[in-house]
Amino acid sequence: MINITFPDQSVRQFKSGVTGLDIAKNLSNSLAREVTAITVNGELWDLSRPINADASIRLHKFTEPEGQHAFWHSSAHLMAEAIESLYPGTKFGIGPAIENGFYYDVDPGNGIQISDNDLPAIEAKMKELAASNGVYKRKEVSKKEAEEYFSKKGDEYKTELISELEDGTISLYSQGNFIDLCRGPHLPDTSQIKAIKLLNVAGAYWRGDEKRKMLTRIYGITFPKQQMLDEYLEMLEKAKERDHRKLGRELELFTFSQKVGQGLPLWLPKGAQLRERLENFLKKVQREYGYLPVITPHIGQKELYVTSGHYEKYGKDSFKPIATPQEGEEFMLKPMNCPHHCEIYKSKQYSYRDLPVRFAEFGTVYRYEQSGELHGLTRVRGFTQDDAHIFCRPDQLKEEFIKVIDIILYIFKALGFSEYTAQISLRDPSDKTKYIGNDENWEKSERAIIEACEEKKLETTVEIGEAAFYGPKLDFMVRDAIGRKWQLGTIQVDYNLPERFELEYTGADNQKHMPVMIHRAPFGSMERFVAVLIEHSGGKFPLWLTPDQVVILPISDKYNEYSQKVFNFLKNYDIRTLIDDRNEKIGKKIRDNELKRIPYLLIVGEKEENSDTVAVRKQGEGDKGTMKPEEFAIFINEEVKKQLL
Ligand SMILES: [Zn+2]
Ligand SMILES: [Zn+2]
Repeated sequence: MINITFPDQSVRQFKSGVTGLDIAKNLSNSLAREVTAITVNGELWDLSRPINADASIRLHKFTEPEGQHAFWHSSAHLMAEAIESLYPGTKFGIGPAIENGFYYDVDPGNGIQISDNDLPAIEAKMKELAASNGVYKRKEVSKKEAEEYFSKKGDEYKTELISELEDGTISLYSQGNFIDLCRGPHLPDTSQIKAIKLLNVAGAYWRGDEKRKMLTRIYGITFPKQQMLDEYLEMLEKAKERDHRKLGRELELFTFSQKVGQGLPLWLPKGAQLRERLENFLKKVQREYGYLPVITPHIGQKELYVTSGHYEKYGKDSFKPIATPQEGEEFMLKPMNCPHHCEIYKSKQYSYRDLPVRFAEFGTVYRYEQSGELHGLTRVRGFTQDDAHIFCRPDQLKEEFIKVIDIILYIFKALGFSEYTAQISLRDPSDKTKYIGNDENWEKSERAIIEACEEKKLETTVEIGEAAFYGPKLDFMVRDAIGRKWQLGTIQVDYNLPERFELEYTGADNQKHMPVMIHRAPFGSMERFVAVLIEHSGGKFPLWLTPDQVVILPISDKYNEYSQKVFNFLKNYDIRTLIDDRNEKIGKKIRDNELKRIPYLLIVGEKEENSDTVAVRKQGEGDKGTMKPEEFAIFINEEVKKQLL
């Protein structure tokens, strides 16, 4: 018998060789139908793999990321099986599970092109194969066996992958007639895969290398229930409508130029003003919380990043250092603001009474991303972080965390994110060698984060082993209006940089001590945050932030003069107003301006001019009655005030 420890720390005995599926069945039949994978001693396993020694386990359903991973990975194999049966001789690259679904890179050979038009047939084949309940079988093989199988099959992609693997670590998985090189884990069989949709076809260079062959990448997604797929496809449709790249163009917020360079956003006037309002909003909050502004250059000496360790981390995969005419001088585009802020801290002597010190900067950084990875404002090569670094004593950590959490929650409220969770990432206590800093500090900081979250009544998940090597962290995830999750703000404890930069303060004992550093960025970056905000709001920004708050619509050009009078009046109240005096029917003007997401439409005609009023229409809500311009100004300024409370 072996002891199986469950997540609640209860222990039950099972026969050696018991599988995850057996354990699930033992607990309940309905659970057994829902589980898709199991974590055994921290490693994700197949439900059908025998457990031969005492172990801690966690069973995963499809609703968990681990469960989805196994489900979608198994689906990638199923798709490959379908492709092999429809296109015999196809060679296979890699086929991983991704955040939403899976893909497989394939080379059908013989001049065959697989296009979007072929997807329904592959999908139908997958459904047929899934219904035949193919069992996913794991087989551990020697490197030689694996090489022999795939070279006989003529799949040079797989043999290339195998050549880089260590003997003794290789496993093959088979289902039906298809065999794949794979670490797993997989579902017990294909019967759980009930709903299948292949989404699109793209080109992808083998191993991401532009000099190598272009393979066909087929994306798909699967679910255990048809209803889940229907909901997902509906969400995708909605997502298309609110794609920030599309809305960014339509609302004239930002653009890209091939000439300026890929991944380098150009902010248009409306976007730049929106961003400036966001920055001013955060600057104001930060001032109230005792942050001090600093400004640092966009480049720094290579040596700075060697000291910080960023050269080692970003150096070879990043932009090359910039050489100057002076020999031996090398500069790098700044990948992080932290090293600069450490040097600012070092410019002065601090006593324990001076701490915490909080340096804030909207600091622009540059990181190389492959062109295929770039995506609108969410994946760029140059971006501005709403960065700040807090240097504090270890006993101040909890209070500082609470303050940063307060700032983040205030931001979420002001920007209409009502659903959010936080993830606490702690170190793996069974492998302390991976982490820098002493036990006492780690325990203190982890406790500080956990207690701060409890005090703020945050809904949290705790991930053991997810901490960075230099400290634990707290990440915020928001759920947007159509149910997608986005990672936004982070708060990160750091014991590493203070050590590398030899930062210190004089303690009450008159001795030198090392401060703790906290990195924090509530927005993450301005680019990413604006992208998320666009996709969340569908371009309907909160009134305080939106580029144009009000548009005046004269019914005919007879009322242009009165419109101008109202416009001048509102301008004095700092209300961002436009006049639409095009020679168009009023119905068309209303529709056009609603499409531009302008929150308030003021319609003026004879009645309004004679009574010195405006007819107010609110986007999405319709008629709000007539008001005097001064009443309207107070009305909308009240709304703004309420949003920023
Ligand atoms: Zn696999
Ligand atoms: Zn930092």
